[in-house]
Amino acid sequence: MADAFDVIVIGGGPAGYPTAIRAAQNGLSVACIDEWKNHDGAAAFGGTCLNAGCIPSKALLESTELYHRLREEFAVHGIRASGVELDLPAMQSRRAGIVKKMTDGIAALFKAGGVTPLQGHGKLLPGKRVEFTAHDGSRRELTAKHVVLASGSAPIELKAAPFDGRRIIDSWEALELGSVPKRLGIIGAGVIGLELGSVWRRLGSEVIVLEALADFLATVDRQLAREALRQLTRQGLDIRLGAKVTGAKATDGAVEVSYTDLKGEQSVTVDTLIVAVGRRPYTRDLLAPGTGVKLDERGFIEVDDHCRTGAEGVWAVGDCVRGPMLAHKGKEEGIMVADLIAGRFGEVNYRAIPSVIYTAPEIATVGATEEQVKASGRAYKVGLFPFLASGRARAMEATQGFVKLIAAQDDDEILGVHIIGPLAGELIAEAVLALEYSASSEDLQRTMHAHPTLSEAVHEAALAADKRSIDSINKR
Ligand code: FAD
Ligand code: NAD
Repeated sequence: MADAFDVIVIGGGPAGYPTAIRAAQNGLSVACIDEWKNHDGAAAFGGTCLNAGCIPSKALLESTELYHRLREEFAVHGIRASGVELDLPAMQSRRAGIVKKMTDGIAALFKAGGVTPLQGHGKLLPGKRVEFTAHDGSRRELTAKHVVLASGSAPIELKAAPFDGRRIIDSWEALELGSVPKRLGIIGAGVIGLELGSVWRRLGSEVIVLEALADFLATVDRQLAREALRQLTRQGLDIRLGAKVTGAKATDGAVEVSYTDLKGEQSVTVDTLIVAVGRRPYTRDLLAPGTGVKLDERGFIEVDDHCRTGAEGVWAVGDCVRGPMLAHKGKEEGIMVADLIAGRFGEVNYRAIPSVIYTAPEIATVGATEEQVKASGRAYKVGLFPFLASGRARAMEATQGFVKLIAAQDDDEILGVHIIGPLAGELIAEAVLALEYSASSEDLQRTMHAHPTLSEAVHEAALAADKRSIDSINKR
């Protein structure tokens, strides 16, 4: 096997593997090095997203939502079900099966696309050389014209509640629990806290979420965040805001978590505690001295807008660089880099990155929040359309939430779209395209939407921005 490549990618997650595939599509010789091993010890491509993040969490969110709806919501459709039972081992083995199929799929894509897969550790040496240590311990030196670092991220550990892998666990372990905790504590009411809290709540856990900030979903549009808090609280998530965790003591049977809030010192006892307070860039043993690649004060690899590091021919993409830690953001960065390396055009529009929280209802946003637009001083208008007024949402018995569209007062450009409601994660794609094309609300107003679909709610929100909604009363 040749030890010289045009491109070596270190990391085979959703940032690294698309980089490798696009580089190969561009006619370059490519190797992708990845060291991931699953809890059973098996090596797999796909990184956090496929093995321990996006895919397994969505598999469980889907299964548990079906279980919940069958028990609580089918009767209204005239469907009575009795003897409904949870088979958690079967649910978990479906989750594991989906992960296996998806990660095997990457190996197959590499094979078909001509990418050389190398499973083990990669370390960048000066001069675009890479030291590769295979899982069996054998070591070789490789060289490349370009090296792309895509080493991802890892959960942040709290000093006050260090992981023990048994009672105090991270999100990966929380996805693979073999029994339903009676009382589940979660530190952090962020994306992971809310998604995993929903999974285990639907299966019967009492879920207590401790969030340090006084504001719920602090970076999300306030109107949306208020509605989300209302809906999630109604589902039984006990979300305690302004709760600063000071310690967690695990015994054989429980964890006692202490925290302070406005009322003073508090404590809560749970069976299992998930710590989900964000993730940090992961660069352990990635860079030998003298590579010229710099880390910033928070440990992210420093890059410019095109993901170039300071070292010639060395690039970095995904969670290990600045920006939101999202799989699709890493993928677009990887594709851009692979195209730039091949001398083609490449660009990422960082102003149009969608973000979705897969709770029920889903929460999906793109562009500026109302608070951000207000702070910018630009005059704006807002169109709001409630799913209560959508025929399709009524037919689905999914009328909670709304679409909120913010457009500039002067030239009508759409500045942000914020959706809480059924399949919001799918609906947001139209808004992303609108932002990508600098569309105006009139552009959306003049675009025909099939009836009856949920997407009509986006259309109606655009109409409502000019107080011309047909299907709802035009007020905010
Ligand atoms: P990673 O996926 O972390 O991949 C990095 C890979 O590089 C890993 O395989 C790692 O083992 C390997 N590696 C690291 N260092 C080396 C080295 N020196 N040598 C060889 N290999 C190395 N995002 C979404 O967009 N949508 C979601 O629904 C979503 N859900 C999530 C749910 C959970 C529970 C979690 C934890 C995350 C979720 N995310 C989601 C975030 C998403 O998983 C990350 O943004 C994404 O995985 C980042 O991709 P990446 O390729 O940069 O890094
Ligand atoms: P997050 O940043 O979304 O949320 C962390 C939360 O923990 C914040 O609300 C923060 O205020 C709180 N927090 C921080 N320190 C705390 C403390 N000491 N005590 C109590 N609360 C504290 O991070 P996350 O939920 O861990 O997710 C990590 C990353 O993974 C995110 O960047 C997210 O984008 C990504 N992710 C995305 C999805 C998705 O796209 N659907 C799903 C899961 C994860």
